[in-house]
Amino acid sequence: MIKRRDTYNVDVGGVVIGSSNPIRIQSMTNTPTEDVSATVDQIKSLFDAGSELVRVTVNNEKSAKNIINIRNLLIKYNYNLPIIGDFHYNAHILLSDYPEAANVLDKYRLNPGNIGTSSKYDDNFAKIIEIAIKNAKPIRIGGNWGSLSKQYLENTVIEGQKADDYEHIIKKGLIDSVLKSASYAEKLGLSSDKIILSCKVSSVPQLIDVYTEIASKCKYPLHLGLTEAGMGDEAVVSSVAALSILLNQGIGDTIRVSLTPDKMGIRTKEVEVCRNILSSLNLKQYKPKVISCPGCGRTSSNYFIDLTKDINNHINNSMIEWKSKYIGVEEINIAVMGCIVNGPGESKHANIGISLPGTNESPSAPVFVDGEKVTTLKGDSIKDEFIALIEEYIAKNYKKVS
Ligand code: SF4
Repeated sequence: MIKRRDTYNVDVGGVVIGSSNPIRIQSMTNTPTEDVSATVDQIKSLFDAGSELVRVTVNNEKSAKNIINIRNLLIKYNYNLPIIGDFHYNAHILLSDYPEAANVLDKYRLNPGNIGTSSKYDDNFAKIIEIAIKNAKPIRIGGNWGSLSKQYLENTVIEGQKADDYEHIIKKGLIDSVLKSASYAEKLGLSSDKIILSCKVSSVPQLIDVYTEIASKCKYPLHLGLTEAGMGDEAVVSSVAALSILLNQGIGDTIRVSLTPDKMGIRTKEVEVCRNILSSLNLKQYKPKVISCPGCGRTSSNYFIDLTKDINNHINNSMIEWKSKYIGVEEINIAVMGCIVNGPGESKHANIGISLPGTNESPSAPVFVDGEKVTTLKGDSIKDEFIALIEEYIAKNYKKVS
């Protein structure tokens, strides 16, 4: 059981973030917010995929004006989820000029590096905080090393400095800038349970380093994400590595996996990766887990691969019905194993498992239920009989939805 870091609890449009609340999945649209129907469609698809909060770009007057239309359309479609406004450079102007947007957004995301030059920073930031207080909205102070305050760097980095020192300065600057902004927000009257922080960098070791440090310095909930992770498998692996290490240490209250999509408009992959991270760490189980071995020279055929696929398909096709009928069915573990080496052992650890025969083994497949061998399957009907046993197990062991 992972012990979570003790933080303030921040309510974002009814979704509470921090401490022992579930780790929340976030995502962000890549449609122009000026396009209401495309943005609403994407928010719906992200929510349907499992994103609990969705962030939208608010970068100009038209996008700010459209926030209310986006919210109304979502209500019409019965999508009730927190929407976060992502502001850079002009938050103080847009939130002042479009009070309806300020009122219906559930959180404002601000980047301390993009609020204004040092002479303007205080006034602009104070204006935003005043609006947040008036509307009872939380903020996320989200630093990013790509947009660290230029003044900070110019004042601190000395020509000819070693790369190691430079990285240290960036890290220090990033942490300082978000903590100072949070402290200034509190001084202006925003309560501590209205603040979430993030410090995004694009290197895995740096991200772990930065978050480990900031986690030790404050009680604000932290939003985790490896920024600009890239595209494809490498980006997924980097994000999984960074987020898993931190989450396993109890650090992180909301997560986002930022992937460059294959094509514009398709964003659900990043939500899917977040779900898999939480599920792998046993922080949340969304559907039954299938434990299956990779196969090796001991497997005599593709049968165990086909059976694994069949079981996964059966789960995917049955989940909606199972969830409507049985409480907690997503927590079942099913093993499909290729031979006697690890097959019986893994099958015994699962709720229900089958150990298929490997090369030169007797052509029979023992089935284990909660650690006990209950039957042995043989012949062409193994798949159907095993699926029937899974259905029987669920009906017997999970309480019916009343
Ligand atoms: S369980 Fe058997 S078939 Fe599967 S990987 Fe292990 S040794 Fe190979």
